[in-house]
Amino acid sequence: MAINKEIAAIFYAIADLLDLQGVEWKPIAFRKAARTLENYSEPMDKIVKAKGIKGVMELPGIGEGIGKKIVQYVEEGKIDEYEELKKEIPAGVRLMLNVPGMGPKKAARLYKELKIDSLEKLEAFAKEGKIRALSGFGEKSEQDILMGLELVKKGQERKLMGIILPYARELAKKINSIPGVQRVELAGSLRRRRETVKDIDILALAKDGKKVMDAFVKLPDVEKVVSKGDTKTAVILKMGLNCDLRVLSPEVYGAGLVHFTGSKEHNVALRMLAIKKGMKLDEYGLFDNKSGKNLACKNEEDVYARLGMQYIPPEMRENTGEIELAQQKKIPELIGYDAIHGDLHTHTNWSDGANTTEEMVVRAVELGYDYYAITDHSKSDVIANGLNEKRVKEHFKEIDALQKKFPQIQLLKGAEVAILSNGKLDYGAETLKEMDIVVGSIHSGFKTPPKEMTKRLLTAMENEYLTFLGHPTGRLLNQRNPYEYDIEKILETAASNRIAVEVNAFPSRMDFDADHIRLALQKKVKLVINTDSHSTQNLDFMEFGIAQARRGWAKKEDVLNALPWKAFQREVLR
Ligand SMILES: [Zn+2]
Ligand SMILES: [Zn+2]
Repeated sequence: MAINKEIAAIFYAIADLLDLQGVEWKPIAFRKAARTLENYSEPMDKIVKAKGIKGVMELPGIGEGIGKKIVQYVEEGKIDEYEELKKEIPAGVRLMLNVPGMGPKKAARLYKELKIDSLEKLEAFAKEGKIRALSGFGEKSEQDILMGLELVKKGQERKLMGIILPYARELAKKINSIPGVQRVELAGSLRRRRETVKDIDILALAKDGKKVMDAFVKLPDVEKVVSKGDTKTAVILKMGLNCDLRVLSPEVYGAGLVHFTGSKEHNVALRMLAIKKGMKLDEYGLFDNKSGKNLACKNEEDVYARLGMQYIPPEMRENTGEIELAQQKKIPELIGYDAIHGDLHTHTNWSDGANTTEEMVVRAVELGYDYYAITDHSKSDVIANGLNEKRVKEHFKEIDALQKKFPQIQLLKGAEVAILSNGKLDYGAETLKEMDIVVGSIHSGFKTPPKEMTKRLLTAMENEYLTFLGHPTGRLLNQRNPYEYDIEKILETAASNRIAVEVNAFPSRMDFDADHIRLALQKKVKLVINTDSHSTQNLDFMEFGIAQARRGWAKKEDVLNALPWKAFQREVLR
């Protein structure tokens, strides 16, 4: 697996560097091969050893040219073309492609004409107003570049929760197997399932902290020890993040867990409340001011109960009203992590997905879904290899055949249909009426002014075939800000037109955000939670979408695809 990802990373780099040189088509082939490799479970070194280049060329989308490069990497640990390209273009120029709105053409010109070859230089030139000297660039482009650089910096600080969580769980398992450790828990923003996280906080329950720490710093994941003590050790992990491990004794585990889960704002509010009640709350417990007695500390439930409130799920601990709800015993019963009956937004290799329709369906069956929608891109999304009407028909025939082969799951035919700049959907009624699920998504014109964007969405929501709005603000975490529109008006119309909004679980999207979800629920809009999968592995993202819905206080009843098949059919399908 690791070697496949290594080669994929090099192919992405080659594609970027070729883009910067203005080479056409070849970058597309490299990116496609990279995606195939990322999702391929058998390691390339094994394949090359067993069958040579022939084995490699059996992979979809890999011809002789790219196949040879894979073989070279396996045998020599490098790829000549990549080494050559790196000599021609400084690494900093490639980094400039991470700046939102900076395409390869722009980056190449900034490098050639102004000799800008690093993010630092780019920032300095933009600040000094030196970029507007280039034809086609203006003051506005300089501002865009500075804004984009802010997003890039944020991305270096905070990583995507959906990427970090599986890794952190593995690390927690390793800590759990250190002798003497009775229990391990992820804390901090990771436990609250914030969309992005800055570091990994781990709590371990053990009596002898020193022994645990000695073993912890020897784990192969640890790059560097920053500080080491018997109760707290801080390290930098090889994967680039900081990690704090705290060892707590059983007597104070609950209070410690509350404290280290946060958020800071939530904790401050709890402490204030404790003071009002003549108590003091810290990481060691909840103490009575008069007697000094520790009233609650063994588990979290006790701490909240002693403060006169309901237990608050970690995903809600942001001090946005949850404490008041808990005092009134009105904490909603949040949607459970096992509540989803079907994924309604997924792609296959008919558009830009990595897997065949059948491979996706097989995985959906494995996940135990009752129903499953296949929603490839529509014809205007050319880059995503969107389907024209004729290909939609062919694809639906394949889905019909698969339905016969997999009677245990209800397959739903659909599409992620582009909402065009005038608000019309990318397919006409003739095609849409053949579909069970129509996802309406904006994939272009993100900078449309808010008023026009509102109109565009309102027009789309007049379409009787629309089931829900996909990734409703279009944000890409650390890459692209959400597009703007009159959100209240859109949600009110969604409610009255019975159009749901999506909570997109893709780690870089997590779109709607928690505040918007709460607003949608206030407006009585229904949610759908989907993975937007582009490979079989992506189907596991569902839990992140559920986490996001829980952060927005959603209950099972608020979510359409938490309905079992019969009820879903009645409520959602026409
Ligand atoms: Zn989309
Ligand atoms: Zn999609």
